[in-house]
Amino acid sequence: MRSMHHWLMLTAAGMLAGAAFADPAPVLRARTPIHIPDVPGFVTLKCDLHIHTVFSDGGVWPSIRAEEAWREGLDAIALTDHLEYQPHAADVATNHNRSFEIAKPAGDELDIIVIRGSEITRGMPPGHINAIFLTNSEALSTTNWHDAIQEAHAQGAFIFWNHPGWDAQQPDGVARWYPEHTELLEAGMLHGVEVVNERSYYPESHAWCAEKHLAMLSNSDIHNPIHLDYDVREGDARPMTLVFARERSADAIKEALFARRTAVLSGDRLIGAEEYLRPIVSASIEVVHGTLNVHGRDRAQAQLTNRSDIPFTLVRRGDVDGFSLPKTLTIPAGKTVLLSVQAKRETPAGRHDLLIPFEVSNALIAPDTRLHLDLPLTVTSAP
Ligand SMILES: [Zn+2]
Ligand SMILES: [Zn+2]
Repeated sequence: MRSMHHWLMLTAAGMLAGAAFADPAPVLRARTPIHIPDVPGFVTLKCDLHIHTVFSDGGVWPSIRAEEAWREGLDAIALTDHLEYQPHAADVATNHNRSFEIAKPAGDELDIIVIRGSEITRGMPPGHINAIFLTNSEALSTTNWHDAIQEAHAQGAFIFWNHPGWDAQQPDGVARWYPEHTELLEAGMLHGVEVVNERSYYPESHAWCAEKHLAMLSNSDIHNPIHLDYDVREGDARPMTLVFARERSADAIKEALFARRTAVLSGDRLIGAEEYLRPIVSASIEVVHGTLNVHGRDRAQAQLTNRSDIPFTLVRRGDVDGFSLPKTLTIPAGKTVLLSVQAKRETPAGRHDLLIPFEVSNALIAPDTRLHLDLPLTVTSAP
């Protein structure tokens, strides 16, 4: 009996030890928030408004799109399956409303806003046109593309032109504006254009946004599971349309899109009108240690913090009288970096209020124009 008791105790101890050494399951179902400051009067919502599922040529069931977006810290997605291209029709019944209907309850459970859309998929011109905030995608299934867009417009949809420089339709990658687009624009049936699709940036459509008063969009057009195309866990985020909305709701997103309150985030690149980029960048980058004392030609260190999840690179536009400063400075997301300041030999002793003229090399306010950002420093120099 004694040996049996001993054996039981050993076994129990062995099981406990085994439990203690079991590897914990990785926490995959977790949301990683994206920190981008709001702009005055509006919340900054991160949206992907061009997404495919198995209901057209995608490889993913619609409800999975909601959880992908939740994990990545997005606020809203639009499901925009092709109306005219249904390569899975032998296995998945053609029903143009179905991807939205399946994704919507999954989104509701996760507090992800899911928007009903369709991609009107035609040759160029007019190319591929997304209509979102539809009430019935089925009604857009027409022979003539004019009728499809007319129907989307009648449903109150926000309508935008997808990937205008897509190399399958424009082999040189250059986006071209056609009379058909003028016709749609003048009829009030074209409200936006993708400036970024997947990882492609179209400078031509960026310029059109200002010229023709179109909202700028940046979308993934994802067909695969998101992890197949983006290294999400390593911080490789899909492109996003930043929407500056009065509140976090579908109605507020729709209002903001028609009011053209959007910007583009693609990789580290932030693209948009200065009125939106300036408050975002100003709220992100802060001089946290900007009052310095320098002795002779010793170096002093200011400190700059980046409160956002967008890394910013600053390039100095000009010299600052009396002081040597670095030409470029990168401030990674969420980090504080040093900015080295050195008085020149001829610099008089005393207090100097400096404004360092930078441009933000990854913040584009026009195709070839970067946002200017002047940062203040107060330097007291002693001999
Ligand atoms: Zn397309
Ligand atoms: Zn598409």
